[in-house]
Amino acid sequence: MKPAPPLGIFGGTFDPIHNGHIYPVMEGAEKANIRKVALMPCYIPSHKNPAAASSEDRLKMVELVCADHVLFYPDSRDIDRGKPTFSVDSLTEIRTAKPNTPLCFFIGTDSLKNLMTWHKWPTLFELCHFVVCERKAESVKTLKNHADNSLKQYVPQLQALLKTRQTFNPMDLHNSLAGRIYVANTQTLTVSSSKIRQLLTNNQSVANFLPPKILDYIQQHNLYQTSADFC
Ligand code: ATP
Repeated sequence: MKPAPPLGIFGGTFDPIHNGHIYPVMEGAEKANIRKVALMPCYIPSHKNPAAASSEDRLKMVELVCADHVLFYPDSRDIDRGKPTFSVDSLTEIRTAKPNTPLCFFIGTDSLKNLMTWHKWPTLFELCHFVVCERKAESVKTLKNHADNSLKQYVPQLQALLKTRQTFNPMDLHNSLAGRIYVANTQTLTVSSSKIRQLLTNNQSVANFLPPKILDYIQQHNLYQTSADFC
């Protein structure tokens, strides 16, 4: 049976969601001809980081972005579980619901580099493809140079993984259900949620890094006003 059109899935903390989440994924989806991408904020226990936004606020901000971009829709399954879970849990659930749909999990190059630290990472390749978006100073081409010390040990494994699984033809994401890595070579946007939280706490402008609606939401709900961990 021919697979159904692929579904993109983009998981993150989205604390807050920003342009570096939105535009690289839009570009990657366009290149891979993926018409729908689920934005899936992860659950964070509220006691873990008191200055970061609640699950409800993070989901609300994701919904505001979805309302403006037909590519995206919100998927709250991770938050709805109300306890910390792993990407593999959500992907297993989606796979069960959509047995004939190629699933394309979007990640930044920083996440590709630490993939081997993810829970049950080899299983992920039975469940989904990966679409990798560039993140500044984290190019896939310079894997060796940029892997920090804690990740250096994974570089040979990651290179071997790319050798067997990387495809340069996005149609491979349409013709099989899972198992390939497509590096979308998207434009880099140098922005992170932690940087945005830091700027907001210091009363500095973040207007260049976020959609105006998200900034309005942050201001209306007095989010990110106290100092937090700025990992
Ligand atoms: P924080 O700064 O709090 O660690 P973050 O900005 O990295 O947050 P996350 O929600 O943790 O955002 O990231 C979710 C996904 O988005 C990850 O796969 C990450 O690689 C990707 N991502 C985040 N920012 C960018 C960016 N500027 N360009 C490309 N990918 C990004």
